[in-house]
Amino acid sequence: MSTVQGRLRIAVQKSGRLADRSLDLVRDAGLRVVKGANDLLYKVENYPIDLLRVRDDDIPTFVADGVCDLGIVGENVLEEGKNGGANASVVMPLGFGKCTLKLACPPMLDYAGPASLQGLRIATSYPKILRRYLDEQGIGADIVVMRGAVEVAPRLKLASAICDLVSTGATLEANGLVAKETVFESQAVLIQSPVAPEPGLQHLLESIIERMAGVVSSQG
Ligand code: ATP
Ligand code: ZN
Repeated sequence: MSTVQGRLRIAVQKSGRLADRSLDLVRDAGLRVVKGANDLLYKVENYPIDLLRVRDDDIPTFVADGVCDLGIVGENVLEEGKNGGANASVVMPLGFGKCTLKLACPPMLDYAGPASLQGLRIATSYPKILRRYLDEQGIGADIVVMRGAVEVAPRLKLASAICDLVSTGATLEANGLVAKETVFESQAVLIQSPVAPEPGLQHLLESIIERMAGVVSSQG
């Protein structure tokens, strides 16, 4: 007779824009989440499942490596984190965390389309997604990678334009920048590991995905 030894793991953002909604989704799917001994791990008391609470940037790798079976992360982070190896796959979009990666510049820049960026410096936290876009457009530009405060780059003369996440546009406006092009549309997605869980947990994994799909479609 086999018994279930292990536990499934779901990676969620510890704190930030996706944290509350991610936890809501897990709870709405019927998982009773209780705080664990430490901040990193929350336990689900009615199923053999743990929530691993980490920085969003770490979620794609944890899921790709099989350290976690499922994860909730922005498509932008998933896309930027892709590498040559096995990647996590998208199970479904979740309908929250919507934002757009946009190219923006000061009004002083004589902008007449992406070709105006040829030879300029563009600041971003998403160098891979931006490079792919520029390549598709046939534009050669320098990319300056900034982890945060990208919107101040033009004012500091670090770059002529920026490529940053926008939801309301208030941050761009406050920094005197005008959005010009959409580079990538994003929202939170449920991602799944290419590494199968131990056989005794496969059915639970499938049923959790099904319940989450039910929650998302009821919110549609
Ligand atoms: P962490 O500490 O986990 O690394 P973070 O600072 O990288 O957090 P947040 O600012 O919490 O990330 O954003 C998490 C995700 O929320 C983004 O990757 C994106 O998918 C989404 N998002 C939605 N709206 C916005 C927005 N206006 N600006 C930035 N991200 C947004
Ligand atoms: Zn992050």
